[in-house]
Amino acid sequence: MANRSNNGQQAVMSARFFQKLASGVPGVLFTYWLSADRQSHRYPFVSNQVQTLFGADPSVLNENADSVFSMIHPDDAGAVVDSIQESARTLKPWRYRARLKLKTGNYEWFEAHSEPERQPDGSTIWYGQFHNIQHYKELEQSLRDSEAEFSFQAGFQKLIARLSTEFINLGFGTIDQCIDELLTSIGEFFEVDRAYLYGFSEDYSVMINTHEWCREGVPALIDTQQEVPIEDFHWWHEQIDGMVAGNRVVFIEDVDRLPHEAATERALLQEQGVSSLFCVPIRVRGKVTGFFGVDSLRRRTWREDQADLLIIVSGLLSGALERHRLEEELLNQSIRDPLTGLHNRRYLMPRLDEMLGRSNRRGEKFALAMFDIDHFKRINDSIGHLGGDYILQRFADILLRQTRSMDVVSRFGGEEFIVVFSAVEQGDVPQLVLRILEAVHDERFVFDEQAIAVTVSAGVAGIDEFADSPATPDALISLADHRLYLAKQAGRGCLVDASGTLRI
Ligand code: GH3
Ligand code: MG
Ligand code: MG
Repeated sequence: MANRSNNGQQAVMSARFFQKLASGVPGVLFTYWLSADRQSHRYPFVSNQVQTLFGADPSVLNENADSVFSMIHPDDAGAVVDSIQESARTLKPWRYRARLKLKTGNYEWFEAHSEPERQPDGSTIWYGQFHNIQHYKELEQSLRDSEAEFSFQAGFQKLIARLSTEFINLGFGTIDQCIDELLTSIGEFFEVDRAYLYGFSEDYSVMINTHEWCREGVPALIDTQQEVPIEDFHWWHEQIDGMVAGNRVVFIEDVDRLPHEAATERALLQEQGVSSLFCVPIRVRGKVTGFFGVDSLRRRTWREDQADLLIIVSGLLSGALERHRLEEELLNQSIRDPLTGLHNRRYLMPRLDEMLGRSNRRGEKFALAMFDIDHFKRINDSIGHLGGDYILQRFADILLRQTRSMDVVSRFGGEEFIVVFSAVEQGDVPQLVLRILEAVHDERFVFDEQAIAVTVSAGVAGIDEFADSPATPDALISLADHRLYLAKQAGRGCLVDASGTLRI
């Protein structure tokens, strides 16, 4: 008896002793007991901090540990129980991090350390402590955030560097591919659902979707956005004015919260499933020519620095489009005649070569007609050189009107023009040429209020005529030129081909 009461006293004393000791430790000291069948558990000893921190009564916990387990964050609870079971099985130290609900109602991170010890009856007791690590968790998170931010920025720099290199190295004709590639990369990088480029008509009355990237499964809009009259959308019109006049970005964080006056735009965007969008103007030679934009189907916020990055992207696009336009102009200047806008000889000769190649390989037929304005010297003499230029331009217009886009229409020199009729039967060519002579005949040429009579002669040569000898561009042109000479001999205003002279 005495022994037992002595033991009991010792137990109470040691409990007090441990409570005192534990009060100086920045955490909760405990012994945790789990029955052999793992059906019941309790804290034979737990320091008073459990009351201060969680509002749990230690004397209750002495009998049953359930209330501590109900404080574990639901996302962590399962794994905590599993890890205790594991430690009970293996008798390896139990270490765990989990969120616990404080007296204040907030969850904070705690870390537990304890050593298990198997009891003779098969139950297990852990000796250990747990303490608050919220501060470290927050530090860890902010480190992770800044690391993520850093890698985002670095990723963006890398992306822009790659895209710029591609734009700088692009050859003629690949700008569209480069733009498509840019939209894909940017769309994926910013995790949006669409990325696109629109162009404005000269007078800003119409906008046209020229390039589009869509995330997989997101419907494309480009086909329905080819000639969008800006007038139909008043609110959007104002935004475009802001882009054009103020170089402002258009940013809609939540389509559902667009102002009342944007009801039409809101309905359209909702129909397209768009929740949030961001558009940045594109400037070419100081003039806003369109905009680059991204759509998100879910609502999202744009951090200011992300907005800045999108502006950098639009700068890259603007620069590429500006350079491309310059290059196109240079290219055009070198292959077009500045007076009439028709192609020149430099363009014609390689095209003829190509057509001859195709004709050899695939038997594609074509014919060439050489035109020369009759008595052009006299025209120049009567209305002056400017008048002569005017006649040349009008004749060029007639040629363009009377031919198909697949034909090559060129000013060969002076008042001589060559038309290559592609994919035609030899027998059909005289009709095509006569139609041109007829159009010249029907046209009223007036310069300085003076009506000028204009006629044209033509010589025709077809690829069919070179069955025996090899055809070359020069051989074809010489044959046509020779027949043009014959047409002049025959009295002008007519055409000469293999069959002879034809008149309208
Ligand atoms: P024909 O009926 O035999 O062709 O007589 P033509 O007077 O047209 O003959 P020719 O080829 O001798 O004269 C061509 C003239 O075209 C000579 C040149 O001064 C004039 N010419 C050539 N290029 C231009 C040009 O760009 N503008 C103007 N106004 N005249 C040009
Ligand atoms: Mg002439
Ligand atoms: Mg001539």
